[in-house]
Amino acid sequence: MSQHQPILEAIERLRDRPPGAPKPIAVYDLDSTIFCTGPRNLAIARAFAEYRPQLRQAIERLDPHAMGWNVVDDLRAVGFADQAILTELRSFWRATFFTDHFVELDPCYPGIGAMIRAIAAHGCLTYYLTGRDTPGMRAGTLRSLEKEHLPLPDRDGAVLRMKPRWEDDDLAFKMQVFEELHALGDVVLAFENEPANANRFAEAFPAATVVLHATIHAPNPEPLSDAVHRVTDFGLHAWSRHGETSSPTISV
Ligand SMILES: [Mg+2]
Repeated sequence: MSQHQPILEAIERLRDRPPGAPKPIAVYDLDSTIFCTGPRNLAIARAFAEYRPQLRQAIERLDPHAMGWNVVDDLRAVGFADQAILTELRSFWRATFFTDHFVELDPCYPGIGAMIRAIAAHGCLTYYLTGRDTPGMRAGTLRSLEKEHLPLPDRDGAVLRMKPRWEDDDLAFKMQVFEELHALGDVVLAFENEPANANRFAEAFPAATVVLHATIHAPNPEPLSDAVHRVTDFGLHAWSRHGETSSPTISV
């Protein structure tokens, strides 16, 4: 069975929904699920190297599409060992990673935009549920959704639900939103990169197809529930055959 089969079956079921059934909803996490954060991490390291040129050689050895959870660990892995500079970089990273300016640099993973458009074209509400925060990152997030031709709140009726405060816990915030989702309609698909978050979705929405995009995740992940489908990429499927239109304007 293709790793995409559960998603395709969920799309097929969207065709058969009876009139008057609750609104179908597809929920998407952003960081490391839709968007690859590697180029953002690399740009931050390069900006910091303006102040600490000793880092430049090591930074050139980083591959933006193969970076892990933590740019400091990536630099250690390519042989940079000056702990004082890495500690400074860590502070610089914390001050810059969660900002409109840098978040806009994240590209989509291959194929996932086409899949999201195909799902929206079947009448599913596109609901982005993210640990990004409104004050620091909403403007940059909207710009990158537009750049990637993804459904937008104003134009297409999508929902972009972000944390009200940066310091709030991501998973606690998302679990609060579960109640709103139950009231809003019928969650049929949910996409996450964090095993714990995907597991909570599978528990809260047992009828939904919950997908873990196996990219990177926070350290010490909990085991993935058998109820969650693991997908390594979205790039090797012709989603356009399932209703994705070439037009960037999608009505949802
Ligand atoms: Mg994520």
